[in-house]
Amino acid sequence: MPKPIIHYEKVKDPKVLDEAIASCPTEVFVKEKGKVTVKNPKNCIGCRACEALCHNGEITVSDD
Ligand code: SF4
Repeated sequence: MPKPIIHYEKVKDPKVLDEAIASCPTEVFVKEKGKVTVKNPKNCIGCRACEALCHNGEITVSDD
């Protein structure tokens, strides 16, 4: 099952996360009070659209 992980320590530009979460077709992420979290991990279909936009490894998707 694909599992998206946010690596906060790698986030230099918050806009990258904003674009990545906007790319997710299944609303895995939410942004609340300025913080992005993985809210619905079971929704992840492993398309890796989010990962593709995170060139600094801000979000990775593992296949556990
Ligand atoms: S891999 Fe696709 S479905 Fe999963 S969190 Fe990233 S964008 Fe969303």
